[in-house]
Amino acid sequence: MQPFLVMDILEAANAMGTPVIHLEVGEPDFDTPECIQEAAIKAMQSGRTHYTHSLGIPELREAIARHYHATYGVRVDPEQVLVTAGSSPALLIAFGVLLDAGSEIIMTDPYYACYPNFATFIDACPRLIPTRGDGFQLDPDKVKIAMNERTRAVLVNSPGNPTGVCLDPEHMRGLSELGLPIISDEIYHGLVYEGEQHTMLEFTDNTIVVGGFSKAYAMTGWRLGWAVFPKDLIRAAQKMQQNLIICAPAPAQWAGVSALTEAGPDVERMRLVFAQRREIMLDALAASGLQVEVRPNGAFYVLVNMEDVTDDSYRLAFDILKNTGVGVTPGKDFGPATGRYIRFSYANSEDNIREGVRRVGEYIGKLR
Ligand code: PMP
Repeated sequence: MQPFLVMDILEAANAMGTPVIHLEVGEPDFDTPECIQEAAIKAMQSGRTHYTHSLGIPELREAIARHYHATYGVRVDPEQVLVTAGSSPALLIAFGVLLDAGSEIIMTDPYYACYPNFATFIDACPRLIPTRGDGFQLDPDKVKIAMNERTRAVLVNSPGNPTGVCLDPEHMRGLSELGLPIISDEIYHGLVYEGEQHTMLEFTDNTIVVGGFSKAYAMTGWRLGWAVFPKDLIRAAQKMQQNLIICAPAPAQWAGVSALTEAGPDVERMRLVFAQRREIMLDALAASGLQVEVRPNGAFYVLVNMEDVTDDSYRLAFDILKNTGVGVTPGKDFGPATGRYIRFSYANSEDNIREGVRRVGEYIGKLR
């Protein structure tokens, strides 16, 4: 298992004993909306503190199914929905259901840091397709070339971490026509600032769509997420859940019902704040001479190419922290393609974004 390097940076930042501007963090800085908190308190006070059905409480699975219809116009049967303790276990279960030892899963480089570890944990092999030259889009023709008799699935993540880029609907269609099962990590849905968001379920049923509450609902610590499985795979997923997780936390599941049925205005309020911060981040980077190659349109991340000043983003991230008091994430976390990039998160206040980027820009200027 490889370490998650951003945690090294975060721990070093916290050990410094001086204030640090955290532009490395991958979670919303907002508190969970009040209606969601109240639903959890009510659930706890009324004794909803026991194990639930392993797939999740019917009320939440029905709310998730309705959410897909209302948001994307696609029909999902609540029987296809597995509720679990965050999108992380949903991904692990999706990998477990589709892959076995010696098989391969195709994914982009850069990737969300944990994906290859999920694959190698079950002795499967990640097969990387570099997307830097394609605007961080996964080209279906390149997937076709990479496919072989061991390939069991392709993985996409839109909006993407660390790129902030949404996969074009044409690419989604192209990927859906390859006949491979697609794991679609849609954890950043709800945080899209330009263009429309699309779920893979609009294009194919041969997909496991992973979603959750951590990002758009500011619920990282609640540990609540889900996956929609094809009907013939839900039983296999349920068996993994029963053994590994048993069920998602009961009060969090009741909070999830409130999130989907009552928190729409809160999600929109937070999305608009992120949209504004994205503009501020992009303006600040441009003013500091820091190069963004592909304009992000979702999530809360921006990748900046630093190859003119480093061949090791891990060392550079530590140097930036030590010299400027700003935490950033080394692109190395996300694969070889971004080994010389730095990821900035704009899940922070406007003032911190401006000041953090100004300091980093000044420091990089000196290195040049
Ligand atoms: N997928 C991606 C792309 C992520 O960035 C994250 C969180 N950093 C996760 C999944 C996991 O989120 P959670 O388990 O909190 O739902």
